[in-house]
Amino acid sequence: MTIAIIGAGIAGAACAARLTRQGHQIVVFDKGRSAGGRMSSKRTEQGYLDLGAQYFTARSEAFQAQCHQWLQAGTISRWNGSLAVFDDSGLHPSPDDTERYIGQPAMQAPVVQLLGNISLHCNCPVDQLQFDGNHWQLFSKGIALGSFSQLVLAIPQQQARQLLQPFLPQSPKLATLFAATALLPCWAVNIQLEQPLLPYDAIFVKNHPLSWLARQAAKPGRCRAEHWLLHFSPAFSAQHLEASIDVIVEQAVIALQHISGQPIKAVTTLCHRWRYAQQAPQYPVSGAVYLPALALGLAGDWLNGGRVENAWLSGVQLAQELVL
Ligand code: FAD
Ligand code: NAD
Repeated sequence: MTIAIIGAGIAGAACAARLTRQGHQIVVFDKGRSAGGRMSSKRTEQGYLDLGAQYFTARSEAFQAQCHQWLQAGTISRWNGSLAVFDDSGLHPSPDDTERYIGQPAMQAPVVQLLGNISLHCNCPVDQLQFDGNHWQLFSKGIALGSFSQLVLAIPQQQARQLLQPFLPQSPKLATLFAATALLPCWAVNIQLEQPLLPYDAIFVKNHPLSWLARQAAKPGRCRAEHWLLHFSPAFSAQHLEASIDVIVEQAVIALQHISGQPIKAVTTLCHRWRYAQQAPQYPVSGAVYLPALALGLAGDWLNGGRVENAWLSGVQLAQELVL
């Protein structure tokens, strides 16, 4: 029997790749137009723009080995941006020797590599699940997607909760996972400028409505024009979750003027609201979760401390724990 994986982000792809290597039949479903999830660059007429994940680091030996393979294959490259910090004392350089990576030519490249020839159905939002004690039936807009011996959910917590709502009374463990909020939102705004803005490639912002700024052209493979990507902090993003795009862009321009100390004239702007972006600091880390009685596994960054590396590790851990 085949294993269904819902979610073609880095966690679902890592899990799918491991299970395939173990000889299992896998089918992956994703509601997006292509694989990548939050690790996706947006394709525009001027080139790729990174609106979600900006880069990733590798602290564990396992992920370092995986990154080494991707580097050899050209799936990722090193990103050595000149870094700065904007804090209560202003803007100042803040170089370090951390190795940071980005996908090539776009952020989703590692996810695409992991999925390889695995059966992937995009544009397929799974919106209903049935479990008869042995098999899972999946549905999308009333259409049956098939019968599966095991089900893996590699999607953000709040989306998993929605799908699993009917099964919560059967599993106190599931109910516990969904009791507290794991992922906080992030507003992202990309601003194209006429002129180069600052002598830095990226800025960590502290104690401010913004949390991060990055120059797209400083990243190999990305848009060459002068585009700056801004991420708002979790607090600002939560407070302005339902604000209009006009309000968010206006706030972004004001913030960029404040940090750069220069007047800003935006040539174009692009705004994206990530409802489920980054780990809530107090949410407990469990790696991945497997519930044999329900033939159900859960993986994703939200179970493992956020970040690309932790999402990958969560997917790998779940593949090892699945009892087949
Ligand atoms: P996702 O990437 O969210 O994948 C889940 C997939 O499930 C998605 O493709 C989605 O379309 C699909 N899906 C959801 N529901 C359904 C459904 N019902 N049916 C079918 N498909 C469904 N991490 C870093 O390490 N470095 C960074 O610089 C960084 N910056 C970030 C900036 C932003 C703005 C955001 C949003 C995230 C950032 N992250 C960063 C976090 C990183 O992107 C995530 O930790 C990681 O990509 C999560 O992978 P995942 O596979 O767990 O989930
Ligand atoms: P990392 O080690 O580069 O950064 C971790 C944190 O350390 C940074 O957030 C920053 O506060 C600090 N830091 C790192 N280098 C610094 C420097 N040179 N000067 C000043 N401060 C520095 O990367 P990581 O641990 O792999 O984390 C991934 C990054 O992704 C983090 O920056 C995190 O905030 C970001 N992220 C953002 C979102 C979002 O929704 N915006 C979601 C998930 C992760």
